[in-house]
Order: sequence, then structure tokens, then C-alpha cells
Amino acid sequence: MRAFQFHNPTRLIFGKGQLAALKTEVPKYGNKVLLVYGGGSIKRNGLYDQVIQLLSEIGAEVHELAGVEPNPRLSTVHAGADLCKEHDIDLILAVGGGSVIDCAKAIAVGAKYDGSMWDFAERKAKPEAALPLATVLTMAATGSEMNSGSVITNQETQEKLGWGSPLVFPAFSILDPVHTFSVPQDQTVYGMVDMMSHTLEHYFHLDTNTPVQLGFCETILRTVIETAPKLINELENYELRETILYCGTMALNNILSMGLAGDWATHNIEHAVSAVYDIPHGGGLAILFPNWMKHNLHVDVSRFKRLAINVFDVNPEGKSDEQIALEGIDALSSFWTSIGAPNRLADYDIDASQIDVMADKAMRFGPFGNFNKLQREDVVEIYKASL
Ligand code: NAP
Ligand code: FE
Repeated sequence: MRAFQFHNPTRLIFGKGQLAALKTEVPKYGNKVLLVYGGGSIKRNGLYDQVIQLLSEIGAEVHELAGVEPNPRLSTVHAGADLCKEHDIDLILAVGGGSVIDCAKAIAVGAKYDGSMWDFAERKAKPEAALPLATVLTMAATGSEMNSGSVITNQETQEKLGWGSPLVFPAFSILDPVHTFSVPQDQTVYGMVDMMSHTLEHYFHLDTNTPVQLGFCETILRTVIETAPKLINELENYELRETILYCGTMALNNILSMGLAGDWATHNIEHAVSAVYDIPHGGGLAILFPNWMKHNLHVDVSRFKRLAINVFDVNPEGKSDEQIALEGIDALSSFWTSIGAPNRLADYDIDASQIDVMADKAMRFGPFGNFNKLQREDVVEIYKASL
């Protein structure tokens, strides 16, 4: 293991009926709340009314930023930061999925900064202050509810950049599986692909002596694989939603990364695709991850073999390590296809015409990835294999 420090300050409030915790938690941060939400799902499923009711019971002054886009946009972040400054907001409350939460994180630092929040995404400046933010999560996917990362899209430059700061860990996050009942089947699948991808980004590392971490990853992967086929046929099953919601948070709240540096190249490669084509993040990952794996098999075939045997029950008898490893990758790809995820860029009508543009975007901060440092030609090859 490499040396590490672990500190995750987010208070996780998990379970049925936990929304009422808003009444005790919100007043700790003040009275003026900016409620941030997406395109209307929380109005259709009744969550908006419940949140407004609870906030009114504690006499909070509520301002709203509605319409945060999936793949949240910089222009929306700026609108939110302006609202915070104008109304002297005490707490930003994000009610939604990863996009709404990521947008709220960017608003939190934007509200305390004179320039554009994009300076942080571009690594031109480091956030020095942030408003507190909290979340009510409505979709299992990103882990953003319990981490310090955020991904923002700049429409003008067609860039999608991840950034992070310890200042934007949510102060508290409320996770009630019931709030995820209304997530449609396709988004449910994208969310499960995303959390499996986060787990795999941790699994492919080169640090030594991490048996517990690898075992944690395998447990999460096996659990999602076992749960997903049932959940897509029973979207309002409480226990299945509960299991997946917990997997999503555990896959990216820094617990899996203790003592190791995960890879994260596939996320970077995917962000460049969604920057140009605005596709769902989980859909892009389902296409790209198996091809990243095949491209990097040579780095440490034993890790791929272990995945095949421990997670996908590949029978190793009479097969070479490479055969076992490839069977595992195919099993992952088939599993994602079986639950309805795409597996070629062509599924999103993406052809070879923008590969150079996407590769340039992926290379913005130079070669990347920790399991294997990818150069531009590697990225181009992975895109080509994904067409
Ligand atoms: P999302 O983009 O937040 O939401 C996708 C869609 O699901 C939206 O149309 C949303 O509708 C709908 N939805 C959400 N909850 C719903 C509910 N309970 N019922 C019905 N519909 C619901 O999806 P996400 O996968 O959570 O977030 C994706 C974003 O997070 C991407 O930009 C990705 O790059 C980023 N990401 C962040 C991290 C991180 O650590 N911060 C990690 C990985 C990915 P409404 O808009 O109407 O609510
Ligand atoms: Fe992700």
C-alpha cells in the first residue's frame, strides 16, 4: 500500500423516511437556502413538494435554481453563483442526481470567487473558499453525494472537465432508496455501469499488497451483477434499490482508494466523448471500458485474470492467462449489453469523424492514467476499437 490519509466529512443519512433530517441539519448552516434541481423529475415524483414543506416548517428562506442539465453546464453554474451572491445564501441544497450535485459543488466555489468557476476546472486557480452544500440524492450512480469531485461542461469550448476540492464534500447527504424508484430503466442502467466503472478504476492499480481493497471491489462488482437484472424488471423494489444505492456511494467515496492510486483513464476518455456528443456518461463508459481493458491487458494480465475468475466465474482450466483474462472482459461487456447498455459508439451514431478532436480533448492535461499512462495514440486506438 502507499501511504494515505483518509478524511471524509460528509454525514451520510441513509434509509427510508430520512428526508425529515432536513429539519435538524439545514438550520446548522443558516436560514437562506438555494435549492438546486434538474429538469423536473422531482416535481413529477413529489419530492419537490416534500422538500419545500420541510423547509417551510423550519422557516427557511428558499431560492431556486431549476433546470440543471444532465452533463451540467458552466452557464448554469454561473447563474447559480450569481443567485448565491445576490441573496446571500447560507446553504446550497442539491436535490437530484450526479449532475445536479456536481453543479451545486461548482456553484459553491463560484459563489466565493470573483472570476469564472471554469478557472478551477482548467487548473488556473485553486478554490480557497466555498459555501456549504448538502444533497438529497435521487439516483444511484456517481458517488458525488459523498465525494469531493465534480464534472462540468463548457458548451462554448465543447469541453467537459472534472475538478475537485476538499471544500466541496457535501456537509450531509440524504439517501432514501424510495427517492430512486422513479428513475427510468435506461438511467438506472447507466447509473449501475457508472458505479461498476468507478470500482474498476480502483481495481486496476499497480500498488502492491492491497488484498482487502481488491476484495471490496470484487464484492461491489458481484453485488451489482447479481442485483441489476432483477432491478431492471422491478424498478420499485425497495431492497434492490437500497443495495444499488449503497453500492453507488461505496464505489466512489474514497474508501476503495485507501492505499492505492486508481487508474481513471477511461473516465477521462469518456468525458471527451460526452463533451462533443452530449451522451449519458454511463452509456459512454459501457462502450469504452472493455476496449480500455483489452488495450491494457499486457500491463498486468494477472489482474484481469483475477477479475475474470473472482467476479465473472470464468473457468480457468486448460486456458492461458490471456484467454482467461479476455473471457472476463467479454463477460463484462456481455453483462452490460444484457441489461440494456450500449456497446459501440455507433449505437449513439458516433463515427470516426471526431476522433482527433476527442483525442485532443482527452490529452488536455497531457498523458494520463495510473495503471498505464496513455499517450495520444493509445487514446485514438481505444476510440477506433470502440466505433
Ligand atoms: P444525472 O445526469 O444527474 O441524471 C440523469 C437523468 O436522470 C436526468 O434526466 C434526471 O432528470 C433523471 N433522474 C434523476 N433522478 C431521477 C428520479 N428519481 N426519477 C426520475 N428521473 C430521475 O445522472 P448521474 O448519472 O447521476 O450524473 C451524471 C453526471 O455526473 C455526468 O455529468 C458525469 O460525468 C458526472 N459524474 C460525476 C462524478 C463525481 O464523482 N462527481 C462521477 C462520475 C460521473 P431531472 O434532471 O429531471 O432530475
Ligand atoms: Fe463516473
